[in-house]
Amino acid sequence: MDNVLIIGAGAAGSVVAKKCAKNRDVFKKIHLASRRLEKCQQVAAACAGEVGVSQVDADDVAQVVALIDRVKPDLVINMALPYQDLPIMDACLQTQTHYMDTANYEPKDEAKFSYSWQWPYDPKFSAIHKLAVLGCGFDPGVTNIFCAYAQEELFDEISTIDIIDCNDGSHGKSFATNFNPEINIREVTQRGKYWREGQWIEIDPLSISAMIDFPEVGPRKAYLIYHEEEESLVKNIRGLKQIRFWMTFSDNYIKHLDVLQSVGLTRIDPVMYNGVEIIPLQFLKALLPDPSSLATNYTGKTSIGCVFQGMKNGKPKRAIIYNVCDHAVCNAEVQAQAVSYTTGVPAVTGAIMLFKGLWGGAGVKNVEQLPPKPFLDELARQGLPWHVRELAAGEQKELLAA
Ligand code: NDP
Repeated sequence: MDNVLIIGAGAAGSVVAKKCAKNRDVFKKIHLASRRLEKCQQVAAACAGEVGVSQVDADDVAQVVALIDRVKPDLVINMALPYQDLPIMDACLQTQTHYMDTANYEPKDEAKFSYSWQWPYDPKFSAIHKLAVLGCGFDPGVTNIFCAYAQEELFDEISTIDIIDCNDGSHGKSFATNFNPEINIREVTQRGKYWREGQWIEIDPLSISAMIDFPEVGPRKAYLIYHEEEESLVKNIRGLKQIRFWMTFSDNYIKHLDVLQSVGLTRIDPVMYNGVEIIPLQFLKALLPDPSSLATNYTGKTSIGCVFQGMKNGKPKRAIIYNVCDHAVCNAEVQAQAVSYTTGVPAVTGAIMLFKGLWGGAGVKNVEQLPPKPFLDELARQGLPWHVRELAAGEQKELLAA
């Protein structure tokens, strides 16, 4: 295996292309395709060595099949949007090609992201002896693999997981989202939920918060939201009693979101304007800064990890595994901000696992179902070092009491 096709030349996709091009010993052939050819050409020009480019509408299975037939990749990395997951998976099935993505499928007309559409592809990928790796970004992605590692190496039983995500960076814009605005706003404005003792507990959006002590950042207010990795982790972590996901949002972000929501600009149903049907959220996306444009002058760090409680050798144990990533360092390396970098680098690391045969098998798999140790070793080599330590008494008190 040496030939990779990346679909999606946006903020995170451009990191994947540039990082693959830095690993020519693994990726001998690289091809980048996206809705706009000029985006692919810009990214390819910034990559080391030759990167092929194509225009593709990945909503159209026939176009993706024709592209795969022409490029003949061993793996397709889907860095387009969640809407394209199913057509690209269908094209991989038809062409017998491995598949990987970083976000689960979501229909365009309903803000409901779930694995329920992709998991049923498992027997189909098994039948063609190919792997479809779901959610290989940071969260989902690395956070799931931190959980798999904790289960394998640190605990006999994990009882609670709190995934904690802080972007403490500053991009200097009055309002912007760090990844695709449409997907980000759909995620944040839906009702929150968490899982306890086998039940999903729903809450109003951003109605529960706690002060969390983020490594290398310090105490920040974070909100309990629903995040997609929880859906697979409740199945794949044995004996789990509770899982929650916490994310920081600045007061400024929440203020803007409140106003945009209250005036209807986050709506995803069609509205007639001057005789033309528009989706307000898509119009809003066109007005907001492109996430890839935020990288220049972005300062500060992201700090993302998992806090675990459980048992080891008959004794209670608490531990944290995390990564801290600096926006300016990412920009200096690949002209990207840390949110794009922490999404793209794990996808490339997952692809290296497949190409080197360190991840194998067939069917549809969430990343925590694949060996965590070789992935985490390679992740650190690729630019995302991670740290693990036991929590001292009293650490993360407010989070664990929440
Ligand atoms: P961007 O909007 O910057 O990039 C998306 C790219 O996909 C654009 O280049 C766009 O093309 C292309 N695209 C959209 N529709 C199509 C289509 N029909 N056919 C071909 N190409 C298409 O988003 P991001 O890079 O920020 O996010 C990319 C993905 O990463 C998303 O799915 C997002 O949810 C996921 N993500 C995952 C994270 C994780 O940690 N797991 C974190 C952050 C993001 P064009 O430019 O022409 O519109």
